[in-house]
Amino acid sequence: MNRIYLDHAATTPTHPEVVKAMLPYFTDVFGNPSTLYAYGQEARKAVEEARSKVASLINALSEEIVFTSGGTEADNFAIKGVGYADENEGNHIITTAIEHHAVLEPCKFLEKRGFTATYLPVDKYGLVDPQDVKKAITDKTILISVMHANNEVGTIEPIVAIGKIARERGIIFHTDAVQTAGHIPVNVAELGVDLLSISAHKLYGPKGIGALYIKKGTRLASFIHGGEQERRQRAGTENTPAIVGFGKAVEIVAEEMTDERTRLSHLRDKFTKGLVKQIEQIQLNGHPTERLPNNVNVTIDGTRANLVLLNLEVEGIYASTGSACSSSNPEPSHVLLALGLSPEQARSSLRFTLGRGTTEDDIERVLEVLPHIIDKAMVMSELLEGLARRSKCC
Ligand SMILES: *Cc1c(COP(=O)(O)O)cnc(C)c1O
Repeated sequence: MNRIYLDHAATTPTHPEVVKAMLPYFTDVFGNPSTLYAYGQEARKAVEEARSKVASLINALSEEIVFTSGGTEADNFAIKGVGYADENEGNHIITTAIEHHAVLEPCKFLEKRGFTATYLPVDKYGLVDPQDVKKAITDKTILISVMHANNEVGTIEPIVAIGKIARERGIIFHTDAVQTAGHIPVNVAELGVDLLSISAHKLYGPKGIGALYIKKGTRLASFIHGGEQERRQRAGTENTPAIVGFGKAVEIVAEEMTDERTRLSHLRDKFTKGLVKQIEQIQLNGHPTERLPNNVNVTIDGTRANLVLLNLEVEGIYASTGSACSSSNPEPSHVLLALGLSPEQARSSLRFTLGRGTTEDDIERVLEVLPHIIDKAMVMSELLEGLARRSKCC
């Protein structure tokens, strides 16, 4: 059976050219980039070339890029790094209710250690109001962290407007751009950010590698101590193969971005229209236009998303109920709740995220099988509820 993978927000397949580019750095060029002999220097050169590619993707300088183990570490580095920076005089962080856990959890960690955090609400589309950011600022505010686009519902946030407010008040501004970098234009100067997180495996690169952009002059505390790698900001021997793969992936997505964005938006709209036409009780989540080109998130009242996913999987179709990290967890998505959905509606929501490999045929096939699957899931759901009621009363 032909597999249809519609979960690109969770991870993307590593591009074959990326794998090819990585291979020599496991074998021929295995040297430590910090050593001075040729092996090491060849690895160093490859690491710096990749750094320059990542920098140019977001219009940064090479020296503003620090490689990390992925998006999660980049977010942790940004938040705790600002929190514990030497010259830090405040203890208040402003973020949003719809951030990825990689942002929310470091904020909660800091809250247990004398910091305070404001989690801004969003409107029904998932948009943060820049005026809310402005109002939340106190003279203790040291950091504003608002994601560029949400990984569950695809809404793109007004980063430029928030960046202006942050700059006026001299507050460091971080954005988690894991869902946007390589997919839509990300330009650190235009966005007006000081810190920006990226992850390679969300843009057809390998897992376990990412980067934090740190605008020149922004002081952060480091929290991985050891050697002098990454300008003493992040110790540990560089993961040369992964870094090279990250660089190659960035090169590919940068080249394909304009065409791919148009192609995916078209497929996304075709898919959304098809769903709305065929399924009566469907509602689209996220912003209708300010959204990622590849994201479709819907609530189908009366269904259990888990049952729909299970039945989709039988057909070789892979989607998700929200964020991958919480799919084994029955708790409804914090993002959907923040948009105003009820826990019941959140549990009836599905996320489809398209990618490089997604074709018109794939979309047509999903549109063909989904209505039947939903009917089936509804019957199953009713049966299960009946069983639950019976076992309760007997
Ligand atoms: C995937 C994701 C992360 C985490 O990145 P990893 O590289 O998997 O650690 C952080 N933020 C967002 C928005 C994401 O989608």
